[in-house]
Amino acid sequence: MKFLPRLNVTPQKLKNVLDPTSLRVRLTVGIAAVSILGLSGVVTWISWRMQNILVVTHKNNTKYIADRFPHDVEIYSDMVSIQEGTQKAIDNLTNTNTLLWVKTPQGEIFAQSMPLKMGSRGTQLVSLTDIPTQPDLQLVNGRYWLLCATDLKVKGVTLGEFYIAQDITGDQTMFLSLMRSLSFASLITIVCMTVVIAWYIKKSLQPLNRISQLTANISAEQLGEAKIQLENAPSEVKALAKTLETTLMRLSEAWEDQRQLVSNVSHELRTPLTVVSGYLQSTLRRGHNLTDIQREALETAASEADRTIQLLQDLLDLARADSGRMYFHFEPIILNELLAEIQGMVSQYPILIKFSLPADQVIVKADKNRLKQVLLNLIDNAVKYSQSVEPIIIKLDQEKGKAKLQICDRGIGIPLGDQTRIFERFYRVDEARSRHTGGTGLGLSIVKTLVEGMGGTIGVISQVDQGSTFTVILPLYR
Ligand code: ADP
Repeated sequence: MKFLPRLNVTPQKLKNVLDPTSLRVRLTVGIAAVSILGLSGVVTWISWRMQNILVVTHKNNTKYIADRFPHDVEIYSDMVSIQEGTQKAIDNLTNTNTLLWVKTPQGEIFAQSMPLKMGSRGTQLVSLTDIPTQPDLQLVNGRYWLLCATDLKVKGVTLGEFYIAQDITGDQTMFLSLMRSLSFASLITIVCMTVVIAWYIKKSLQPLNRISQLTANISAEQLGEAKIQLENAPSEVKALAKTLETTLMRLSEAWEDQRQLVSNVSHELRTPLTVVSGYLQSTLRRGHNLTDIQREALETAASEADRTIQLLQDLLDLARADSGRMYFHFEPIILNELLAEIQGMVSQYPILIKFSLPADQVIVKADKNRLKQVLLNLIDNAVKYSQSVEPIIIKLDQEKGKAKLQICDRGIGIPLGDQTRIFERFYRVDEARSRHTGGTGLGLSIVKTLVEGMGGTIGVISQVDQGSTFTVILPLYR
């Protein structure tokens, strides 16, 4: 048993193989159905033709006997009595396969073939009542008989009914066995054809699967260089691959234009907005005679201007990262020291932030400013989305050759379905819930870009109303 290869059939694989919407299944079923119909049609026609040929040959013989018999009876009855003449004519035409008999209008046997008289063959035939006037094939007592009946008139006098029975069991049995063999051969042919058709269709559709695999793995950055290489593919599929390549190229150009536009617009808008923000801040500082309403309006305008400047800065950062123009100044950083620095910076937050640092130094190779930006962003979120008085905890550990930084809060948490999406651009769990926090939905996507740019990873574990833990893993400096 151990020599048998293991069939690795998962329910998903089986579902794919039998998927009724797939082109492979549709083509296989369609072509197999047409082949089955065609082959069954041919077999049916052959059997009908053979049966016809077989029956027609014997029918002609029957007709010949039916035509000749009255004439024979007439000749014999000139010499002997009419009953003897009929018997003689019957004996003359009877052979191993042909039995004849004549019944009077009253239904009594007038004359019959010897085997019938002796009761050796076909005795049931004479008792049949529904014999047609045209030769008809009937199964009587396990044998096939071609039966027909005609009126017997001799010298203008109706003698009764003349019956002819031809035993065609030999030919019919041979025909049926031939039909059985033909049907069996057709069945085997259909099965083999279906298997070969399924294999051929699968092979023919492989280039399409290859295109779909290749395109599925192309990232936004690789759109322009995407090459769909297909050897031995049909020319139509190659043409499709070429069209797809051109489309991807156009998409890449459009993507690049869009990035450029975002970058330029962000850059152009940031400068005047910074000036506006500066004027608003200085007006607020020096405006001693401002009314409360005027002050509130200016404060709102200043905070909105700052928020927009931050948004433009984030967009600029992302556009740079997308076009590969985000540069990192890598250097060894002692995380214990960086976190102590951050501790000083976050002391003004209204919520307690505790730091749990190991005694040993944890050193990573990263860009100090970018890493600071990452941590401040995560701490800022932890504060923004926490309503509880429980402190936020920042933990540093060293694990399996990596540095592990964790930012844990006891805040509102993130529903499971949103946890993978919060790193997407402009994604916010609940727009209404997030609006008053003043964010833009870009913070975490920048954090992820920066962490990955420094060779690390970021993940989140969270439970609604219990809190969230963001974990940043960075490679250690060696
Ligand atoms: P935002 O500017 O809205 O804070 P982010 O990209 O920083 O954008 O975060 C995306 C979304 O993830 C937020 O809108 C918020 O719903 C959710 N989120 C981020 N951090 C936390 C956290 N610590 N607790 C709960 N939800 C969070």
